[in-house]
Amino acid sequence: MKGLMMKTQLMISSILRHAEKNYPNQEIVSVTADNPRHRYTYTDFARRSRQLANALTNLGAKFGDRIGTLAWNDYRHLELYYGVSGSGMVCHMINPKLFPEQINYIINHAQDKFIFVDVLVMPLIEALHPHLTSLEGIIVLTGKDTMPITELPNVYCYEELLAEQDDDYDWPEFDENTACGMCYTSGTTGNPKGVVYSHRSTLLHAYAGALPDATNASNRDVCMPIVPMFHVNAWGIPYASIMVGAKLVMPGPKMADGETLQNLIETEKVSYSSGVPTIWMALLDYLDSSGKKIDSLETASTGGAACPRGIIERLKFDYNTRVLQGWGMTEMSPLGTLFSLKPGMEDLPEEKITDLQAKQGRTVFGVELKIADDNNNELPWDGVAFGALKVKGPWIATGYYGMSQEPGADDCPVDADGWLNTGDVATIDPDGFMQITDRTKDVIKTGGEWVSSIEIENAAASHEQIAEAAAIGRYHPKWTERPLLIVVLSPGATLSKEDIIEYLQARLHKWSVPDDVIFTEELPHTATGKLNKLALRQTYKDYEFAS
Ligand code: AMP
Repeated sequence: MKGLMMKTQLMISSILRHAEKNYPNQEIVSVTADNPRHRYTYTDFARRSRQLANALTNLGAKFGDRIGTLAWNDYRHLELYYGVSGSGMVCHMINPKLFPEQINYIINHAQDKFIFVDVLVMPLIEALHPHLTSLEGIIVLTGKDTMPITELPNVYCYEELLAEQDDDYDWPEFDENTACGMCYTSGTTGNPKGVVYSHRSTLLHAYAGALPDATNASNRDVCMPIVPMFHVNAWGIPYASIMVGAKLVMPGPKMADGETLQNLIETEKVSYSSGVPTIWMALLDYLDSSGKKIDSLETASTGGAACPRGIIERLKFDYNTRVLQGWGMTEMSPLGTLFSLKPGMEDLPEEKITDLQAKQGRTVFGVELKIADDNNNELPWDGVAFGALKVKGPWIATGYYGMSQEPGADDCPVDADGWLNTGDVATIDPDGFMQITDRTKDVIKTGGEWVSSIEIENAAASHEQIAEAAAIGRYHPKWTERPLLIVVLSPGATLSKEDIIEYLQARLHKWSVPDDVIFTEELPHTATGKLNKLALRQTYKDYEFAS
């Protein structure tokens, strides 16, 4: 027997239509390169998103075309989230902080037809333009007065383009499994890989993220996503907060500036905000030195990297802000786990609650979680056994764009049994709190960005006086993790630490150059002859970078 319910498709445009009708006067406040405090309402936002959909159609963009964005968190980027996806095109958010050759690769791989760029990103696009094979036009996210002068062809001014458009547009309804967005991740080895979200996955993820035991989002909230909109859809906040009718505050290019963040929190009465630990560190340092407050900020969610206990304690005890640590991945939209207490836990001593906040959290409904040993046997949730962390659910990728979607295939992150292998190693305690203990993927995450350890090792090993080199990520108080290089010198070598750093500076991006070099007689290897990174991380677990 079939259920007798409407087959209404879960569409991103339905969030916008609901929001406009129910919260027409709710505000969206942004910092942009051309305005330190822009404000408008959901009504303006919905009208301009429709104008954007018309603009894209008039430019010749078609259903399914990839439309790139290289932009910070502001109202224009939000219009792209809704205008592009709502009209059936794919909003491809690109991280402007990646290495230029990665951005080049990503735009060509996704075959972006048009790209919307922040003024600040124009020099990058000018440099890359001769190599961008699919691009038919560039739209600069600014007004006429601040349009950069450029020799590039087919460059449009966003505000001028919008002003020419009708604000009437009927959002089409189509299959909810259609792609709505794309984000590339470099959290694995090799070239960045494209994750493709659907309307259905995005809506289900937004519902789950808004639940009381997740972020508890409501129309009484003032939400400030500091996590960039080019990083996994700003953790879904641009969808969940508009879905519930919250006021949005967006810090634009000032997302790492403690002073701007404090000012926005205080003057706009921000109650909920989200960012990687490095951002909270920058805000706390500014608060401590300025004596300023963040009284309205009830909840600070953090993720992307393990949150140092000190941040949780300083926010809690000095500023009365509760830290909500979460864990997820680009491949997971990203929500996997979030901190939430179970019944009876509210009365635990504060120390114990901090212990739980310092873990990666409990799973939300929609994501199944398991840990498995090397033979893929499921391990118990006893807080002791650790193994490969695997996940399943409706907002978790089946594979990467242009690569195999066949579970178990070499280039597919989903194992033969249908679980996505996260590349993280974890324990899960009897209450369901997950704790990341290590990583099997050979990458280092520093300040929220990925660095390839293999690239560092290859560069080091190209020196004739270096016999073997291994790069591992170690805790760093500012960047959460920084690369540490461990080197075995060739017989008779006379290299110093400084020589090696200088050699690498000439071959690697600044960000990838290790912060320190340690010399050793021998590196540990696995039975198959690979560098044993787990053993190395264990050996150097207490290593501290000089501050
Ligand atoms: P990305 O796809 O760039 O968002 O990176 C996802 C990866 O970041 C995960 O697989 C973890 O390795 C790491 N990660 C994310 N959140 C946390 C967290 N709360 N604690 C520790 N590692 C995290």
